[in-house]
Amino acid sequence: MGKWVYLFEEGNASMKDLLGGKGAGLAEMTNIGLPVPPGFTITTEVCNLYLENGDKVIEELWPMVLEKVKVIEERTGKKFGAQSGLPLLFSVRSGAKFSMPGMMDTVLNIGLNDEIVELFSKESGNPRLAYDSYRRLLQMFGDIVLGMGIHPFENELEIIKAQKGIKNDVELSVDDLKELVGRYKKIYESEGKVFPQDPFVQLKMAIEAVFKSWNVPRAISYRKINNIPDNLGTAVNVVSMVFGNMGDDSATGVAFTRDPKTGEKGVFGEYLLDAQGEDVVAGIRTPKPISDLKDDMPEVYNELLNICKVLEDHYKDMQDIEFTIEKGKLYMLQVRTGKRTPGAAVKLAMDFLKEGLISEEEAILRVEPSQVDFLLHPRIDVSSKLKSIAKGLGASPGAATGKVVFDADLAAKMGDEDVILVRPETVPDDIHGLAAAKGVLTARGGMTSHAAVVARGMGKPAVVGAESIKIDLNERSFTVNGETIKEFDVITIDGTSGNVFKGVAPLIMPELSEDLQDLLVLADKVAKIQVRANADTPEDARRSYEFGAKGIGLCRTEHMFMAQDRLPAMQEMIVAETIEERKAALEKLLPMQREDFYGIFKEMKGYPVIIRLLDPPLHEFLPKREILKEEIAQHEKSGEKELVEKKKRLLRRAETLKESNPMMGFRGCRLGLVYPEINEMQVRAILEAAAMVIKEGERVFPEIMVPLVGHINEIRLVREKLEEVAKEVISEQGVQIPYLFGTMIELPRAALRADEIAKYAKFFSFGTNDLTQMTFGFSRDDAESKFLPVYLERGILPVNPFQTLDRDGVGELMKIAVERGRCANADLEIGICGEHGGDPDSIAFCYEIGLNYVSCSPFRVPVARLAAARATILAKVRYESDK
Ligand code: ADP
Ligand code: MG
Ligand code: MG
Repeated sequence: MGKWVYLFEEGNASMKDLLGGKGAGLAEMTNIGLPVPPGFTITTEVCNLYLENGDKVIEELWPMVLEKVKVIEERTGKKFGAQSGLPLLFSVRSGAKFSMPGMMDTVLNIGLNDEIVELFSKESGNPRLAYDSYRRLLQMFGDIVLGMGIHPFENELEIIKAQKGIKNDVELSVDDLKELVGRYKKIYESEGKVFPQDPFVQLKMAIEAVFKSWNVPRAISYRKINNIPDNLGTAVNVVSMVFGNMGDDSATGVAFTRDPKTGEKGVFGEYLLDAQGEDVVAGIRTPKPISDLKDDMPEVYNELLNICKVLEDHYKDMQDIEFTIEKGKLYMLQVRTGKRTPGAAVKLAMDFLKEGLISEEEAILRVEPSQVDFLLHPRIDVSSKLKSIAKGLGASPGAATGKVVFDADLAAKMGDEDVILVRPETVPDDIHGLAAAKGVLTARGGMTSHAAVVARGMGKPAVVGAESIKIDLNERSFTVNGETIKEFDVITIDGTSGNVFKGVAPLIMPELSEDLQDLLVLADKVAKIQVRANADTPEDARRSYEFGAKGIGLCRTEHMFMAQDRLPAMQEMIVAETIEERKAALEKLLPMQREDFYGIFKEMKGYPVIIRLLDPPLHEFLPKREILKEEIAQHEKSGEKELVEKKKRLLRRAETLKESNPMMGFRGCRLGLVYPEINEMQVRAILEAAAMVIKEGERVFPEIMVPLVGHINEIRLVREKLEEVAKEVISEQGVQIPYLFGTMIELPRAALRADEIAKYAKFFSFGTNDLTQMTFGFSRDDAESKFLPVYLERGILPVNPFQTLDRDGVGELMKIAVERGRCANADLEIGICGEHGGDPDSIAFCYEIGLNYVSCSPFRVPVARLAAARATILAKVRYESDK
């Protein structure tokens, strides 16, 4: 192991692994010349060692710490723990590699004791400062280092304020503060705890407490939710104190270099005069917007704006900063990349690109596919004129509806139910409840409160600081304007406008913002794998086209038969006992199918459209047998003979079509091989529709897909027959129609024999839903409802293979199919049309194995377009770093 302790000037931004995010940021700011109070960082490696070996590590570490303390003493001209001069005080702050907002704790003002506080008072000439700092130290040390909790201290603070008849902490006089110190000490006594008077003991214990905080439950649960590994450890930052609580020329604040909600330009933040540390985020007093600083301290305001610009130019991204102003002098205490809403992420990426700070590829990497997904979620229909019952700050946009729940534990226990967590304010311990809830509503807190920050990070709607709601945690209800909402009542929150509605509010489908469209155009330019959509209707096709799909990868024809006006004809076809009867029924279906295909072709304006021939087992088109039996009984009672006969016929057919395992039964190309007339009608409908479009002078590109092929003879026979139909239609119509025949690869055997199959298929489309079922031998519904959750919980499978493609098994079969298929036919067009086609990780895999396109549901198309570009870029980055 290398160096254990780094002075800020010895580190830099790239050392997050070792110094944690906070330490690396403080080091970087120090080195680019920004005003950071001197300090040093103990590495994450030391934390990990400590968690393994405990005390021994502290003893080994200690001399190194003392050495750095000496250096800081020289830098600041103050002494730590000395009996004369202005005392040096420290903050001890945790800081892991990934920012974990509010997860681990900070102790301020270390180095004060009963004597030094007097020295501090005298030397600074500011007794308020000294005693305010001391009571804060007692409070934080008791809470964080000795595990006494914050409540006894906060209680006492409330009591003294009530006794003195004051509202704000700042109104406490020096004597009040002295008294508070005394009362705090009594709390220690009554809890059998000792506050160490030796500053060095304080420092040592605080460092250990930070190490230990890595493993407190809320930190563990935060890591779990955010997929942060448990073995990273936290660094410890020891920073010389500066004081925002020295009066009205001092302040503490937090800011974002641009608006984290919208991405708009302009520094966005809050501050409090005469305050320290987390007073701003804790909502103790209502903070002022950063723009007020312009009047309060114009010079500092300008300096702050300037620093924000320097930081953005340096990090080339929006930053989240913490600062303190001590007697008119600005100090930077933290910098990190700012968390942002999905909408802001898109705007910031495009703005930084336009400002020339980042490249097109970087802009694409700045936005996660999941953020685009979020932007495509429905929003509240404002035209519905629903009256809001309360309004707070819209802290994280989007709409959420759910049952009101008043505590995090209960929210976490509600399982699949949609809940809205409603709290006076949230604290880090509520993290599991926030994770489980659809959205959060708080009565207190501002745009930088815990609930706001965490919700934005999770991409969940949040309304905070809705002060008109009065929450009664005992009654488990809240009231607003005379109306009472009880636990489990349903509300809707709008994190965009800050409105709260009773019940379920109507939602509207979103549209793509201009910035998002621009970003997706860039993505298309970069992506080396195309995106198509799965669309069964002209309406879906239109949406797909609007969302930028470059074709349809799967048009299922079965849904067309399910429509009210078509089902009877379909059922006639199914119960037909002779070919003639069947043909007669199909004749009725033909014009309907033709119309469907015509509509879809028109919407896709010449992009390829893959149409899958009838796939599901026929019994799916018949009513359930139990229902038929009931109906027969009813009709018999009322003496409707004809209906009885008709239903009996359906029932008989349903009985013969009954299968013990429909997933592997009489479906797919097997249907067409036994009843070729169905496929013939479909191909005729497709090509006649195509001919109509061509005659209108437009382009069309139908691709006809045969489902569930496992053997070369299946595709060969189906195709031979259908080619005859195609020839017929073309000669009837007298126009050339560019069409292709191809197949789905959804059976392991098809993947293995892809070279043979490719002789009769011009394209392959991986049907990975079935392929996953058949490869694992899982039937999806049974798996997902019975054992898959257990598998996932116990880590038997890392992810649900129906959501994210199983690269090792199913993926291996796909690779084989690609290789063997292209070996037989180099021009083979290959895509994927299973649900995986919209999953970013699966898309990356499809790109890696050389597919031409992915196809997903229309609403996933924008997500997939971004994912396709990111996969292309990231593969290039990996390739270059491997070289
Ligand atoms: P968190 O990780 O929860 O943000 P920090 O370590 O950033 O915790 O500390 C919280 C706040 O404490 C900071 O935002 C800052 O206001 C205050 N603080 C920390 N160190 C110092 C210091 N050396 N001087 C003054 N204030 C400090
Ligand atoms: Mg904190
Ligand atoms: Mg902080």
